[in-house]
Amino acid sequence: MFSKRPVLVEIVTAAVLIAVPFVMPHIDAAPNTVNRVLVWGLFGIGFDILFGYTGLLSFGQSAFYGTGGFVAAYLLTGAGFAHVVPALFIGMVAAALVGYLIGLLALRRTGIYFAMITVAIAEIFFFVEFNPLSDWTGGENGLPGVPTPSFDLGFTTLNFTSGWSLYPFLAFCYFVGIVIALRIVRSPVGAILTAIRENPLRAAAVGHNVQAYKLTAFVIAAAYAGFAGGLLGVLQGFMPPDAFMFDTSGQLIMQTAIGGRGTLFGPLVGAGVWLFLQDFLQATLKLGAAWKLVLGLVFVLLVCFLRQGIIGGIKDLFALMSGRVKAASEPVQEAAPVAAAAPVAPMAARHAVPNDYQGPLLQAKGLTKRYGGVLANEGIDFAVHQGELRGIIGPNGAGKTTFFKMLTCEVPPTSGSIIFEGRDITGMSIVDVCQLGLTKSYQVNQLFNKLTVSENLTIAALAQLRGKFKLDMFGRLSKIRGLQEQVEHTLQLVNLTARPDTPVSQLAYGEKRRLEIGLALASSPTLLLLDEPLAGMSPRERVETVRLLKSIAQGRTMIIIDHDMDALFELAERITVLQEGRVLVEGTPDEIKGNALVQEAYLGGMDEAELAV
Ligand code: ATP
Repeated sequence: MFSKRPVLVEIVTAAVLIAVPFVMPHIDAAPNTVNRVLVWGLFGIGFDILFGYTGLLSFGQSAFYGTGGFVAAYLLTGAGFAHVVPALFIGMVAAALVGYLIGLLALRRTGIYFAMITVAIAEIFFFVEFNPLSDWTGGENGLPGVPTPSFDLGFTTLNFTSGWSLYPFLAFCYFVGIVIALRIVRSPVGAILTAIRENPLRAAAVGHNVQAYKLTAFVIAAAYAGFAGGLLGVLQGFMPPDAFMFDTSGQLIMQTAIGGRGTLFGPLVGAGVWLFLQDFLQATLKLGAAWKLVLGLVFVLLVCFLRQGIIGGIKDLFALMSGRVKAASEPVQEAAPVAAAAPVAPMAARHAVPNDYQGPLLQAKGLTKRYGGVLANEGIDFAVHQGELRGIIGPNGAGKTTFFKMLTCEVPPTSGSIIFEGRDITGMSIVDVCQLGLTKSYQVNQLFNKLTVSENLTIAALAQLRGKFKLDMFGRLSKIRGLQEQVEHTLQLVNLTARPDTPVSQLAYGEKRRLEIGLALASSPTLLLLDEPLAGMSPRERVETVRLLKSIAQGRTMIIIDHDMDALFELAERITVLQEGRVLVEGTPDEIKGNALVQEAYLGGMDEAELAV
C-alpha cells in the first residue's frame, strides 16, 4: 500500500499521455471526448483522495467544480482578466477556500449524515448560482466566451484552441495533477488518510488529529474540483450552469466506482468508459435517450463483478498470475509458533516525567461514569507509580473497560478527575492524551485491516515522530528519521518480525492480538494500558503472550486488565479489584488471593485453594 516504486507510475503515465494523440485517431476517437475524459479524470483525482483514500463519500463535489469554474470564467469573460492559467489558479483557490469552510461544517458529522450534508450543500450552491448570483454566473445561460490558453514564447506563440490542439494543455494539467496526487498519497499524510479510512477511532487513539486530516483531504478534493471546473469552461468555450448540478457529483461517483476507487487513475478510466460508451450508444447505435439505460446496466455489472473497479480487477488479475492471491476458502494458518520473546531493549518513553515531580504517574480521583441509569464507575480513587505493573480484575460488567476509556479520555467522566504526570488531563481529547504518552490497546482488536503489519505500526509510530498534525504532504515516509527503527523495534517486541508484509486480514487471531498491543507500543507511551490482551487466546498463545508481556514490561509502566487471574498474579506487582463499578480491594497478588472479600464477592465462594491454582 505504501508504494516502494516511486517514479515508474509517473513515467508510464507520461508515456501514455504522449501516445494518445498518435494512437486514438486510428480508432476514430473524437478528440473532444478524449479532452473531456482528461477534465473528468483531473476532477476525480481529488475526489479519489477524499473517497478512495480517506473513505469520505461526498455527494457535493459539483459545488466546488462549479465554484472554480465560474470564478475562472467570470474573470476571463466579465472582469476583463486576460490570463487563462492564473484565472484557473484563482478559481482553484476560491474552490479550496469554499471547501475549507464547508468542510468545517460537514465534517462535524460522519457516515450518512456527512453525505447528506454534502448533498444539501450542492443543492444550495446550485440554487445560489441560478438566482442571487445570476448576474455574475449568467444563470441558466452560463458564461459564454471563455478563451483558450496561449503562451507567447517570444519567438513563437503556442495556441491551444480545441480538439487535438487543446489536448497537450489538458494532458499537461492532468499530468501535473497526478504527479502531485501521487506524492500526496505516498507521503506521511497519505498514509494517515488511509488509516483514517480503515479505522478512524484507532487513528485518533494512536495520536493523529483525524478531524484536521479529514479537512485536509476535503480541501484537496475541492481544489482539484475547482481547477477542473475552470478547465471545463476552457474546453467548452463557455461555462455551463450544469457544472453545479447534482448529476455532476453523481456522475463523478459512478465513474470513480467503475474505474476503481483508491487508485487515483480510477476516475480517468471510469470517465473513459462512461464517455466513450455514451458516444458509441448515442452516435453509433443511435439509442437516443435509452443510452442511460444501457450505461446503467454496464455500471451495475461492473460494480457487481469488479468490486474494486476496472483497475482493481486488473490488479487482481496480475496478482493471480503472479500467484500472490490465496484461494479465499483456504483457512488462515498461523505462522510457526513464535520463539520465546528474546529480551528487547525498551524503547525510550517519549516524555520524561518532570524532575521535580514526585507523585504518582497516573492518578484518578473520585472517577465516576454514568450511562443513563447505569453507574459504570463510581468514585474510583486510583494511583499508579512510575515503573509499576498493575493488574485490574473484576467480574464481567464491573466497569474495567469504562475505567480505561476514561483514563485515556476516550469518554469523559461524569465527575472526578485524572492526573497524568502531575497534570490534570480530564476533558482532554484522546489524541492529546496519546501525544502526552498515555495510550491503550483495545479489548476488541482495532486494527487497520487493509494495511500490512508494518504499515499498521508505521501509522502509530508516525503520530509520535510527527505530532498530531503536520502537513508534510510532499514528504517521504523513508525520510522520517527513526521511523524504520521504531517499526522494526516494535515488530521485535511483539514477535511479528516474520510477518511485516502480511496484511492484517491474513493474520491468525493470536498474531492480531499481538499487533493490537504493538499499535499501542509503537507510539512509545510513558504509560501503557492493555485491555484484556489475553482475551480469546488458546492456552499455548496465552503462555507465549504472558512471556511477551513480561519482556515488554521491562522499564515500562503498565496497567493490564484481564480475566486470566493466573496470568495477572504472575505478571503484576499489585492488583486492583473492581466490583460493580467501585474499587473493592487493592493489594499484592498474595494479598488478593487470600482476601475474603475477593473470594466472597468476586469469586462467588471459591475457596482459597481453588483461587491459588
Ligand atoms: P467485561 O469484563 O465484560 O469487559 P467490564 O468490567 O469491562 O466488563 P464495562 O464494559 O466497563 O465492564 O461495563 C460496565 C457497565 O457499564 C456495564 O453494565 C455495561 O453494560 C455499561 N456500559 C458500558 N458502556 C456503556 C455504554 N456505552 N452505554 C451504556 N452502558 C454502558
